[in-house]
Formats: sequence, structure tokens, C-alpha cells
Amino acid sequence: MISIKKIANYVAPPFESYVNTFLSHQFTVALSQDDFSEVTPLVSIGDTVKEGQVIARDIDSNCNIHSPVPGIIKDFVESPLPNGKNGRCILIQMEGEFSYLGKVQKKLKWNFLTAEQLIRCIAEKGIINTFSKPVPLAKQLRDKYEGRNIILRLYDYDPTCYTDTYISKKYLQQILEGISILASVFSPGAIYCLYDKALLLKDVGKDVNTIYSENLLNFIPVDTTKYPCGGLGEIRQLIKKNMKRQIPYPISKNDLLLDCVTMLSIYEAVVLDEPMMSRFITVSGDALKESKIMKTKIGTPIYKLIEECGGLVENPGKIIINGTICGNAISDMHVPITKYVKSVTFLSEKVFADRRIFPCIHCGNCYRICPVHIKPNLIYEAYMKNPEMSPYIAEMASICTDCRLCNMNCPSRLPLYQAVEQVKRIGESKK
Ligand code: SF4
Ligand code: SF4
Repeated sequence: MISIKKIANYVAPPFESYVNTFLSHQFTVALSQDDFSEVTPLVSIGDTVKEGQVIARDIDSNCNIHSPVPGIIKDFVESPLPNGKNGRCILIQMEGEFSYLGKVQKKLKWNFLTAEQLIRCIAEKGIINTFSKPVPLAKQLRDKYEGRNIILRLYDYDPTCYTDTYISKKYLQQILEGISILASVFSPGAIYCLYDKALLLKDVGKDVNTIYSENLLNFIPVDTTKYPCGGLGEIRQLIKKNMKRQIPYPISKNDLLLDCVTMLSIYEAVVLDEPMMSRFITVSGDALKESKIMKTKIGTPIYKLIEECGGLVENPGKIIINGTICGNAISDMHVPITKYVKSVTFLSEKVFADRRIFPCIHCGNCYRICPVHIKPNLIYEAYMKNPEMSPYIAEMASICTDCRLCNMNCPSRLPLYQAVEQVKRIGESKK
């Protein structure tokens, strides 16, 4: 692990409160909200839709997409998306009365619902799990594993964002109720909540102990000034180190891993009966006049966030989605917000003064910093020569934890992680 100060060229400041983003006249709702699949639209051009109405559904019914506003379906368009790909979107012109926004929210009693009813509610409300690559949560809940643990990360994986940390500070009770909901869907082996040790979780123990036995729920403090500290590998080690008694079920990739954004969405879906129509987003960067945490409707174009921050102080050299360490750059300000966007960072040219790429100088930085001790330089070289590389190279790439430290530390600025990720995908497709 390495100090964040050494690797991050920009870190979002902490925020105490959020603002609601101005509503746009038009919303561009992507038909692919989870990075993998595109769902089938249920509306046609000219249809009138209500806020929260289901406008698209996937074949297996694991996840719906809802209209974020009341309005008229104007068109189906191809648009660049926050993940750097292009995808089909529904264009909605806002008009009419809101069904959710500004209305008093009643709390529903969910305790009498069966596990299947809770999963169906999570699917119908379109909840995506954004712990790492975005996936429909209902699909994960339908997978059954003996002794599966629930693991909750209460801070941002990419420390240059502040979204999960903000939600953990402001909505802890809602998150805990979300855990109770999940524990009613399946009986977990154990529940682990990893939290930033710099933040005191006031009175949590008292509230929680009335819900769970001490053996089931465990709070694990984490030093979040070091990176990486929130991937499955680090979490496994932290739990082993901190648990004074024996772990009933080993930590594995079959465990249900969740972030704060997802936990709050579970609460909103099941307790408040509200579909996933908006996101908390850290909007920051030295090219902006002001940085803010915003609650933003899905489908809002990114340029609207700039207006909310008082405009730009200079033209951004780079716009990065989901953190300057782990995120990806986009080049179009019309890219719409999707369910998997946690942050947008607008950085000035001076932060990325030199973007030239040079050949490898064999300095060894990339493999010395790699937390799983693989050689990204070798994988990169093999991939560039022949994408159908040897099984040994594919095996090496398969244990990469996606931390991107190799990229951050390569003086030649080679896209090492991107090559490793490609090799990983090729390897997985051959299995
Ligand atoms: S190869 Fe993977 S695990 Fe190793 S530093 Fe690069 S991104 Fe991190
Ligand atoms: S850090 Fe970059 S330049 Fe150094 S060995 Fe790795 S790939 Fe080569």
C-alpha cells in the first residue's frame, strides 16, 4: 500500500452537505446502466411518461430502468457514455407533474416480505451494485452460496472521490437498515463493515447490537490514507488481521460486496418505495470554480454539473469519471449521468502537462508497486506483440486487482493496466 499523497495529483475536498442539480430540459437515459447488457425499451417516440415509470427492462428481469422525470419520449439516440463506450439512449423532454420529487416520503414496513418479494422489489426498482464493475443487485442476490458473507465498504475505493464516504457519514442509519434487508434475503455467514478509522461511528454499536448478535456483525477500522485499501484482496487481509475470533466462513469472491451508494439505494427502494432515478456525485477539480457533492437525476448531461459549480475557471484538460486513479477520461460534455457514475473531475491542462508515451525503460516501478506482485510490463509487452498470448501471461493477468498503481507509476506513461485488463478478458472468455 502507498500513501495517497504520493500518487494522486488531485483529491476531492470533504463536503458537509449536498445540492440538488438544476433540472435539465432534456434527459438522455442510457439503455445500458450496468456496463454489460443493454435492456429492451418499453416506450415509443411520442409516449408520455411519469417520473419513476419503467421505460426499459432486461430479459431476465433483474433490473428496470425508470424515467427520471415526467415527460415525452422524443427520440432514441446513440450517445457516448461515461464508461467510454457508445450506447443507445432514450431522449426524454421534461414536462408534467413530478410523482416523487418534492413529495413527502412515507416509510413502508418491509419486515413481513419474503426473500423473493424483497429481491423482486430490488429488481423492479432497478438497483445496481457499484462496489466495483456495476452489476444488477437482484442478479447477485439470486445466486445462492452456503455461508455467504456480506461485506460493506464505508469509504471510497478511489480516494480521489468523496461520494461513498459522504453517504456513510450522512446516511449511516439508512445503510444499517439496508443491511437488515439483505440479511432477510439470505442468512449471511457474517457481516463485515469496513470503515475509515478517522471517522468515528458514533453510537452505531448501540443501535446495531439491538438488531444483530455481536458474532454476526463486525466493524473493521481501515487506514484510508493508504491505497489500495478497498479491493477484495485488501479486505480479506484486513478482516483476517482484525478478527480476534475465528472467521466462520472464509472471505471469497462469492461474498456479497457492497458500497454505500448501493446500500442507500436498497433503503430507498424497499423502505421509501422509490426507484433508482438519481445519484450522489462528487463534482470537483481545479478547472471548476467550486467543487460540490450533488444529487443528480440519471440522464442529466455532464455540462449541467458545471453550471451548478459556478462554471469553469479554465478549459478542462481532462474530464475523468469515477476518480483520477481508477476512472476513465471522457471527451464529450453531453455524456449523460448513469447509475454507475460516482464522480466527475474536471482537471486543468497543468495537471496533465505532458501526455506523451515513451518506450519502457525497464525501471521496474510497475512490478515493485504491484500489490499482487505480477509484472505488468511483461503482460503489456506480450499483449502488444500478440493479443493471443501464452497461458502463463493470461494466468498472471487474472490475479490483477484493478488498482491501476502500475499506470500511475510508469515514467513512460504506458497504458499497462489497460493491457492487463484486456488480457484478463481474453483469458476469461476462453474458460
Ligand atoms: S497489474 Fe493490476 S494489481 Fe498490479 S499494479 Fe497494475 S492494476 Fe494493480
Ligand atoms: S514502470 Fe513503465 S518503464 Fe518502468 S518497467 Fe514498468 S513498464 Fe517499463
